[in-house]
Amino acid sequence: MHELGIVMNVLEQADAAAAEYNAEKVMKVTMEVGEVSSIVPDLFIDAFNWAKKKTDYLKDAELEMIIIEGRTYCKSCGGTYRTTEHGKKCPYCGSVDTYLLTGDQVIIKDIEALFKEATGGGPDPSE
Ligand SMILES: [Zn+2]
Repeated sequence: MHELGIVMNVLEQADAAAAEYNAEKVMKVTMEVGEVSSIVPDLFIDAFNWAKKKTDYLKDAELEMIIIEGRTYCKSCGGTYRTTEHGKKCPYCGSVDTYLLTGDQVIIKDIEALFKEATGGGPDPSE
């Protein structure tokens, strides 16, 4: 299960970002996952929930996954089509001279963090 390796990488990045921005903890990580990426969402979520306990900032974080549709472009006729339905073969002209446009990405889209109380924002003693 290679999901764990990717999860560790995501958690490391989110942990580092939280430390850099002085966050108290990360509440939520939003990821874009292509439907033809090599990731199995259920395994990814399981791995995330297991591995997050070992991080500094993501122990309570939830994971949201936005599944991105796989689309393939046909170089022969210029058409695009749903990759999961037709694979490498263009449904319009039958060509296999095609390439994937989108749908294999695994990226962190957003990290929502809770920040510590800002210091210095209280009543100003000079007034
Ligand atoms: Zn075609």
